[in-house]
Amino acid sequence: MDSHGKATEIHPPYFLKTLDKRIDQLKAKRDRCKKQAKRMTRPDGSLFWLPSRRWRYLNARLQDVYRKRREQTKQFLYTVANRLYHDYDAVGIGDYVPHGGGITRKMRRSMNNQSLNRRLKQVLSWVALRSGKQVLEWAEGGSTRTCHDCGYVVEGGIPPEVREWDCPGPGCTRHPIRDENAARNGLRRTFKALELPCSGRREVSSRWTWRFNGLGFTLRGPLTDSATGISFQEIKSFP
Ligand SMILES: [Zn+2]
Repeated sequence: MDSHGKATEIHPPYFLKTLDKRIDQLKAKRDRCKKQAKRMTRPDGSLFWLPSRRWRYLNARLQDVYRKRREQTKQFLYTVANRLYHDYDAVGIGDYVPHGGGITRKMRRSMNNQSLNRRLKQVLSWVALRSGKQVLEWAEGGSTRTCHDCGYVVEGGIPPEVREWDCPGPGCTRHPIRDENAARNGLRRTFKALELPCSGRREVSSRWTWRFNGLGFTLRGPLTDSATGISFQEIKSFP
């Protein structure tokens, strides 16, 4: 969400899903092989286990995919940061901390997001420094459950699967869109941190999406609202 009311969703990079799937497959194959295949003796007389040829082969392929993942992620993050600082002088990013952590697919996705988010902050800081611009982190606490327009706080929070709702605030007729509402609150908090006079409520004037195509972004917009058939759920906010 920017200061002119332009709401942009930056899609997570498509390649992560593909590469993660490949990583899972290679890991499973590798771990089915014998790791401790052959007992060897070092020149100094100590012992070690030489993994089987197949284990070593699969492990090398796995490291290749990890390297590819790191390189492409880096390129994605720099493309995001360069594009943002091309357009803006200051960028505010939420202090996103996902819950959980562990081994299920859902948890891993959350961990991936966490690491992507953490790295985006680093890259934003570097690009901001290089270009003499600013990066600010805003506290996300309560930003989802608080209606940007009337300030009503939904008790107990909004479950993750609820993407939009009718604000129950007295006299409020707004229909907040989850991430967009949070991003509008984030913009308000960012303005506060910048000590810039904020003109209060900021309406969304247009909606856009950025989709990473490997080199840059494919931009779509302005998109219309759900009344005209395009689902609001397609439109999320930054981050
Ligand atoms: Zn409200």
